[in-house]
Amino acid sequence: MRFSTKAIHVGQEPDASTGAVVVPVHFTSTYAQESPGQHRGYEYSRTKNPTRHALEECAASLENGKHGLAFASGMAAINNVLNLLKAGDHVVSTDDVYGGTYRIFDKVFRNYGLKFSFVDTTNPSKIESALEKDTKMLWAETPSNPLLRIVDLREVARISRERGLTSVVDNTFATPYFQLPLQLGIDIVVHSTTKYLGGHSDVVGGLIVTSHDAHYERLAFCQNAVGGVPGPMDSWLVLRGLKTLGIRMKEHFRVGLEVARFLESHPRVKRVLYPWLPSHPQHDLAKRQMSGMSGMISFEIDGELRDAKRFLEKVKLFTLAESLGGVESLIEHPAIMTHASVPPEVRAKTGISDSLIRLSVGIEDPEDLIQDLASALG
Ligand SMILES: *Cc1c(COP(=O)(O)O)cnc(C)c1O
Repeated sequence: MRFSTKAIHVGQEPDASTGAVVVPVHFTSTYAQESPGQHRGYEYSRTKNPTRHALEECAASLENGKHGLAFASGMAAINNVLNLLKAGDHVVSTDDVYGGTYRIFDKVFRNYGLKFSFVDTTNPSKIESALEKDTKMLWAETPSNPLLRIVDLREVARISRERGLTSVVDNTFATPYFQLPLQLGIDIVVHSTTKYLGGHSDVVGGLIVTSHDAHYERLAFCQNAVGGVPGPMDSWLVLRGLKTLGIRMKEHFRVGLEVARFLESHPRVKRVLYPWLPSHPQHDLAKRQMSGMSGMISFEIDGELRDAKRFLEKVKLFTLAESLGGVESLIEHPAIMTHASVPPEVRAKTGISDSLIRLSVGIEDPEDLIQDLASALG
């Protein structure tokens, strides 16, 4: 099956007992057993729930993976991946990762004795020179947030294979519609399903996909042992979102590219970061490992913090809000909002300046979005 067929059918056969075409929301915490230990695959909903299971099957198939695990948030999924490690282990991570990822690494798992190096993973030789004898994991986010840098996933997979490391990719910004890390040799994919997979800004969720059986066993064990699972209603909302992922991503790409081209042509804009513009320094790499791009655009306006703030107050269609990946367009200021937990000196070093603005372009009509940006820039 191809992408949108899988999105609509995998894990979603009509309900065996009623014929319901849509997977029911199984609001139950426990399941009747015929005799002690004899049941139909379900014992207790932290361990397994039919609605969540449908989501896990469907999401795994979209990433071309064998196993899926759903979580109550992207951070719960990321937490669960870190549970593969033990005190003393070292992780090499992309430096401009999602702010919450930086925070859980730096402020939570460091306390448990894990060690982290944040490096410019767009340069494979910097990954290699950051490796230590205790390095166990490579963590990459591509396109990265908010600078939309591209990490060469084949190189990350090669280094991991050669050194026996576990490679992890946060695929939230690209989605499996445009990028399939497992196919490029990556071991584990994580998502915030809050974003494009849910797609309607109405649910918080996370996901892990892997084809590696031993990793899956441990990750599933930790999912149950730690317990950061999504409820049936949240699982159902993400599953409903998946059905239209293909058609939405096509539109995010079309509208996003038009908005990016408009911004690039505007005299008040200093630079635009969008991997599908030929001006993006890694445009060729993006085209080698992705089949398109979502609606995430970052740009610097020609001015200072107060100019950026004024611009953000003037837009009308774009809602000033954190998060991304919904059908409605959002706008935000990374230095003050999503990346405030990244220390100022780290922000300065990585290029998250005070005039940097991030857009999550929705699927409204591009003419209206461009008109809104044009009048605010004016
Ligand atoms: C939002 C986000 C997360 C965290 O997910 P939550 O669902 O908010 O917990 C992780 N990585 C990326 C790239 C994100 O955008």
